[in-house]
Amino acid sequence: MTDSEALYLDAAATEPVSRDVIDAMTPFLTDAYANPASVHQPGRTAARALDAARASFASDLGAKPDDVIFTSGGTESDNLAVKGIAMARMRRMGLGGFATGAVSAVSGDAAASGDAAGTAPAVRRPRIVISSIEHPAVSGSADWLARWFGFDVVRIPVDDEAHIDLDALEQALDGEAGERTTLVAMMLANNEVGSVEPIERIVSIAHAHHVPVHVDAVQAAGLIPIRMRDWDVDSLAVSGHKFGAPKGLGALLVRGRTPIEPIISGGGQERGLRSGTQNVAGAVALAIALRRSNTRMAAHYRELVASRDMLIDAVRRVVPRAELTGDPERRLPGHVSFVFPGVTGEALLVDLDARGIACSSGSACAIGRHEIPPTLLAMGIEPQIAKSALRMTFREPLTRVDIERISLAIEESYAALTKR
Ligand code: PLP
Repeated sequence: MTDSEALYLDAAATEPVSRDVIDAMTPFLTDAYANPASVHQPGRTAARALDAARASFASDLGAKPDDVIFTSGGTESDNLAVKGIAMARMRRMGLGGFATGAVSAVSGDAAASGDAAGTAPAVRRPRIVISSIEHPAVSGSADWLARWFGFDVVRIPVDDEAHIDLDALEQALDGEAGERTTLVAMMLANNEVGSVEPIERIVSIAHAHHVPVHVDAVQAAGLIPIRMRDWDVDSLAVSGHKFGAPKGLGALLVRGRTPIEPIISGGGQERGLRSGTQNVAGAVALAIALRRSNTRMAAHYRELVASRDMLIDAVRRVVPRAELTGDPERRLPGHVSFVFPGVTGEALLVDLDARGIACSSGSACAIGRHEIPPTLLAMGIEPQIAKSALRMTFREPLTRVDIERISLAIEESYAALTKR
């Protein structure tokens, strides 16, 4: 990378699509364009490509081909899992509005306990347990369940390194309340600070209480190994544009044993869980991009971690007041996040942008809204400090020259902004 080129440090927001991914998917947009549901020869060719993509994708996530439901990305996958599993389990467990067989919303305490005149039947309210640092695709879906079906939404706190409090999870699943819990939904790696969560322990706690676990692996896929079946995870969401496939592509991996209702109705594609003509070229792109990303990671993991740690040291050197956020070790390999007391992250990122360094102030979805990064607040960081967050994410190891350029830019930006 030459000095004049912008340095892209926002891979957690999205990654470029590489030429080999485009080349692999193109034939399924041009020559082999048939609908994979068609019985004719061209249709069968498309169906074979879809099957092959599914098998490769599943194997790279430690899953079986039948687990894979292709979707439009992380947001849809999280919505399908959280709403679909919670609603299916609510019904099976005889909770909420389904206790009387009625498909109606139950909300508020009156609904839970029967109204004053005793006309409403007493219902046991369904529950969902999430962490306090979930992406809005998960937390918003849980809030939707609360609004429409009267779910209790329990948010498990995190510590100052953004690790989920496992004792609090255990307590949340104990006793009568645990028996009303339809789902535990938690992320594998955090988008704002990169901390990696102990998913296997979360699964073992939840399963001991017979509660399935949905994992949002959007930030982790292609960066750290994912073994869905070995970890005994029930469903897992990934998003293609985080590992080099085009935007608007992703998957929910969901085990056959897990009760789940579709949230999209139609022709019954993808095990009836995601109706709509399948995007064959997109599925091919997902499979190739994930394989490419995993291979790259296997080859460059140590270098990536080393360059991440060099950048962390360099930032600390040029701005001693800056503080690393998240776990210094159990974090994603190309993820650096800091708070810079005395400035706002927004001002810093605008200034850095003008110096050819493209980074972010927190989660991708917060950009444009300039909200205070919610993970930092959940970690107990003061709002004033949390506002000064800056995130730098990359998938290729940085060179020493890159690191010098970034740290010099940060030093100059910070000095300029704190002088004002
Ligand atoms: N979950 C997490 C943790 C994310 O970081 C994101 C996007 O940044 C999503 C879900 C949403 O994924 P998508 O952009 O594919 O809808």
